[in-house]
Amino acid sequence: MTQWHLACSACSNTERGDARATVCPRCGQPYLVRYDTVFPSRDAIRTRWDMWRYAAVLPLGEFETPVSLGEGLTPIHDVPALAESLGVAGVWVKDEGINPTGSFKARGMSAAVTRARGLNVAGLVAPTAGNAGAALAAYGAAAGIPVRVYAPRTTPPVILSTIAALGAELELVDGHIGDAGRLARSFAAEHDWFDMSTLREPYRIEGKKTMGIEIVEQLGWRLPTHIVYPTGGGTGLIGMWKVFHEMCDAGWLADAALPRMIVAQADGCAPIVRAWQAGADHAEPWANPVTHASGLRVPGPLGDRLILRALRESGGRAASVSEAAIRSATHRLAVLTGIDAAPEGGCALAVAESLAADGHLPSDAEVVLFNTGSGASYRS
Ligand SMILES: *Cc1c(COP(=O)(O)O)cnc(C)c1O
Repeated sequence: MTQWHLACSACSNTERGDARATVCPRCGQPYLVRYDTVFPSRDAIRTRWDMWRYAAVLPLGEFETPVSLGEGLTPIHDVPALAESLGVAGVWVKDEGINPTGSFKARGMSAAVTRARGLNVAGLVAPTAGNAGAALAAYGAAAGIPVRVYAPRTTPPVILSTIAALGAELELVDGHIGDAGRLARSFAAEHDWFDMSTLREPYRIEGKKTMGIEIVEQLGWRLPTHIVYPTGGGTGLIGMWKVFHEMCDAGWLADAALPRMIVAQADGCAPIVRAWQAGADHAEPWANPVTHASGLRVPGPLGDRLILRALRESGGRAASVSEAAIRSATHRLAVLTGIDAAPEGGCALAVAESLAADGHLPSDAEVVLFNTGSGASYRS
């Protein structure tokens, strides 16, 4: 049976695994899940066709059934035409847009709502740039727990309708996700609902880490050399970096060289790129964040230190591109592959192209690009 506790990512504070914890009360930094039981071998992977096939390495109690809608197990597409145009050995696109509610937020919310249900919370509340709210609405409905979502008025209309269609209370906010976060936190405090904000609870990371296991399994238990990830709050990147270490320690991986993690952001909201260029260990909030890739409109991510640490440890980098570059790369990605790419996926391709042009992708590179959402969510 899997047992875990929570450990602060910045100080030595720990908390029980069954605690209703948010961030570390001592230093305000996120908690991460640490497993007390031995990380099992690959044989523990279940015959099950969603991300819970990795339940043995996820926070799930022995007799517990996950709150699941068929998240994960998304396709990874080998795209030789992109490898050729980038001048590298291989390019794969991991298409997360076909998850329930059209983004990889489903993975995080499946894990987090499973734990929140275990804590018997009265309700779930979250700020969102869009897709997290849609995923939370879906998983809250699946678990029978009421949901309240705070979203910027500028969120793509299809995503707002999805949130409402799934029965969540939707509050529109004049501002960005940071402003929505303040409202969500005060509602949570007042009504004793559970705050599901990125990294204010430790389990969305665990759900998103399954992307890291999955790409490795899909590539035949081999790691790519580079992962380009469109980064907002950073949960996916932090989660993948975490699970690569867990898999390495448990002997799941043949090769020991971990991939370089590459942050892709938009010029109009690039707090991690600016911090990385300055060699800083944390990011300052970005004033007036603007980008049509709404998942990337996160001016002050709580996971900034963890994202920057993963970049440093992996020998990765961070780069941003213009709105025009995102639009044209989204179009190229779609017509070249048949994937209905989201602007965030276009951002990943545009950043890969700019790194290749600057000589930062060697000719033997094997690159995984993440398309994190569905283009359909962004059309009105
Ligand atoms: C949330 C989101 C992102 C950013 O994800 P993080 O893991 O929070 O960095 C990227 N793309 C899409 C489509 C999203 O919904």
